[in-house]
Amino acid sequence: MFKKVLIANRGEIALRIHRACKELGIATVAVHSTADESAMHVRLADESVCIGPPAPKDSYLNIPAIISAAEITGADAIHPGYGFLSENARFADIVKAHNITFIGPNANHIRVMGDKIAAKKAIGEAGIPLVPGSKGAINSYDEAREAAKEIGYPVIVKASAGGGGRGMKVALTEDDLAEALSTAKAESKAAFGDDVVYLEKYLQLPRHIEIQILADSHGNVIQLGERDCSLQRRHQKVLEEALSPALTDRERTKIGDTVRKAIETLGYLGAGTIEFLYENGEFYFIEMNTRLQVEHPITEQITDTDLVREQISIAAGNKLNYSQDDIIFKGHAIECRINAENPRTFRPSPGTITHFHAPGGPGVRFDSAVYTGYKIPPYYDSMIGKLIVWGDSRELCLARLKRALSEMALIGVETTIPLFMDLLDNPEFQKGEYHIHWLEQWLEKQ
Ligand code: ADP
Repeated sequence: MFKKVLIANRGEIALRIHRACKELGIATVAVHSTADESAMHVRLADESVCIGPPAPKDSYLNIPAIISAAEITGADAIHPGYGFLSENARFADIVKAHNITFIGPNANHIRVMGDKIAAKKAIGEAGIPLVPGSKGAINSYDEAREAAKEIGYPVIVKASAGGGGRGMKVALTEDDLAEALSTAKAESKAAFGDDVVYLEKYLQLPRHIEIQILADSHGNVIQLGERDCSLQRRHQKVLEEALSPALTDRERTKIGDTVRKAIETLGYLGAGTIEFLYENGEFYFIEMNTRLQVEHPITEQITDTDLVREQISIAAGNKLNYSQDDIIFKGHAIECRINAENPRTFRPSPGTITHFHAPGGPGVRFDSAVYTGYKIPPYYDSMIGKLIVWGDSRELCLARLKRALSEMALIGVETTIPLFMDLLDNPEFQKGEYHIHWLEQWLEKQ
């Protein structure tokens, strides 16, 4: 096992990784920007190193500074968390070249899955159903028109390098196609420095359902069931639940088995998620995330596992602590992403948390790095915590969620807590009857 892990991240996920390390008897190194000097991940870690000014490109994305921090402190592994450098294949290569273990998959898998066109090809060949779409990149308007005719409208133009819901544009008819193509290309160029795009059938009212997997270096692969992440705003997840209220046990087992076999075929290592759109009983692959996900705790709650502990253990060359037969789904879990934002306009609300009280009691987990007096810096993502609630039925889970939200005090900044309180009163949400556009439609009516 490793002796010291450097955590190349901040906020709640840095704390989550620190906690897993401590339970494994591993020392931790926090890295931080000048804006995060008094952050909780810095306070709790055994050692900390300042790696640069607030802007992410100068600190949390600053590869030379992070590698130097690992060398100075003698860390033998780096955990990238999610976001920042977690899906940067070049970073994984550089870490390895410095004889430090990257806690994550092999760089070649990160590279393939980070290029959505290559990912669709690899995943399709491994036996997973895909969203119907263009064969590869679209190089001209004429190619787009031909492909769209074949696929059938509506279509969606997507950036091959895409992420975070950016670089996606819908064309309902041929009249919209030229504009969708040029806007998606421009957005992708600006966000990712690359304007390669492809075309997909635009599914109208699907759900977003994703399957969590773990694979070790001894050929063992397990799947840990699905998460339903259909409640989104601007293609970004807002609330997730496990298991999905929409699937039957038969569908669940079938897609889980398909994913497990594909991961075996791919020879993938570590934790990963295969994302699907699900409509009329069919699954359509959209992308694979080669990292830990924000919403991983709901899977942990219903399977009684520790995904971060497993990631670290797998990276150290150990066998998985669970076999597929150990994975038994118990109860229901929901995660709410608590953002420091206005709950109506979603305008970020950085500032000082003058008073903080965490909810507690049975089935309640709050993954966060905030504390009374913490000043939320304006430079990073506005998510300040994740409220994760478990109950042995969905009904109990919803009741607990309401109770936990009403206990929580986060004073001094605006948060999305009131939004979740309102959502919990909605009968359609209560019944689990929603799709990927449902939340935005509901927000418009508020
Ligand atoms: P990103 O990497 O930017 O998150 P994804 O491919 O994972 O992009 O898609 C994010 C979200 O965009 C999906 O959850 C869904 O809401 C929407 N989306 C993506 N592809 C399609 C599609 N073919 N049809 C309908 N909606 C889509």
